Amino acid sequence: MTTLPQAVEIPGAKHLHSGKVRDLYELESGDLLMVASDRMSAFDWILSTPIPDKGKVLTAMSLWWFEQLGVPNHIISTDVPAEVAGRAVVCEKLEMFPVECVARGYLSGSGLLDYNATGEVCGIPLGAGLVEGSRLDEPIFTPATKADLGEHDENVSYDAVVATVGAETADTLRKLTLDLYREAHDRAEQCGIILADTKFEFGARADGTIVLADEVLTPDSSRFWPADQWQPGRQQPSYDKQIVRDWLQFESGWDRHSGEAPPPLSDEVIERTRSAYIDAYERLTGRTFTS
Ligand code: ATP
Ligand code: MG
Repeated sequence: MTTLPQAVEIPGAKHLHSGKVRDLYELESGDLLMVASDRMSAFDWILSTPIPDKGKVLTAMSLWWFEQLGVPNHIISTDVPAEVAGRAVVCEKLEMFPVECVARGYLSGSGLLDYNATGEVCGIPLGAGLVEGSRLDEPIFTPATKADLGEHDENVSYDAVVATVGAETADTLRKLTLDLYREAHDRAEQCGIILADTKFEFGARADGTIVLADEVLTPDSSRFWPADQWQPGRQQPSYDKQIVRDWLQFESGWDRHSGEAPPPLSDEVIERTRSAYIDAYERLTGRTFTS
């Protein structure tokens, strides 16, 4: 479904991997360089039109959260090659746990689909009568396996995580995920933003320390909803790809089931999307975004 993205050439850095949005390199020191591009993905396609500055906004947002959260993280420095200034971080190379550690405080997306089909999410039974956007009594840990490029991640049970990483690590990952979610949720709430759900990834240092890695609490890894417009029972307005998804589905004339690549975004949609990302960053951090 997707065409492979183009990673920039960076002298002294060896390209390791490109996801839909980010490119990963290894530096001569052995550390990793994680670069957030301006690529935008929607409906599992990488769009042909980038959103200017998106990678910088998301990198700044992730760094701000790493500073706020009181757990060990993988960031080493923001002193990066000029080609990727502002959109990259140098981080520790960790042994990643092959688990997407998702916390949900509200029901949406794949959580809602599973609930509607079975009354459960990842084997956790939820009460009756929940709808799109319902707040859960307690946040829940709903792990997923990492899927290959262009594939959907698959929700799995807690027992499946135990089988993969062992009981002790599974318990630690669940606790960390839920604690971090609660902390970030409360923080975002003070800024008028609902953190409906989010995905963390953790890795281990050689000495076994569990470290928070990847990007954290960005609109690419989370659902952020404006709190004053939250209304269970319908799709919530959001700070992420909503503008793009709506335009592709309802205005562009593209049929998402056609198998055809989506059309380029219009200038107006690009600008509105860019503004939404910057707005979320500025609201959360209280900082002004400078590109
Ligand atoms: P996509 O997110 O587009 O579905 P992806 O997860 O393969 O695909 P990215 O998220 O762009 O692609 O790539 C980042 C990769 O780097 C992920 O595989 C993530 O697990 C890995 N990663 C993040 N932090 C570290 C780290 N500190 N050490 C080792 N690997 C890391
Ligand atoms: Mg990823």
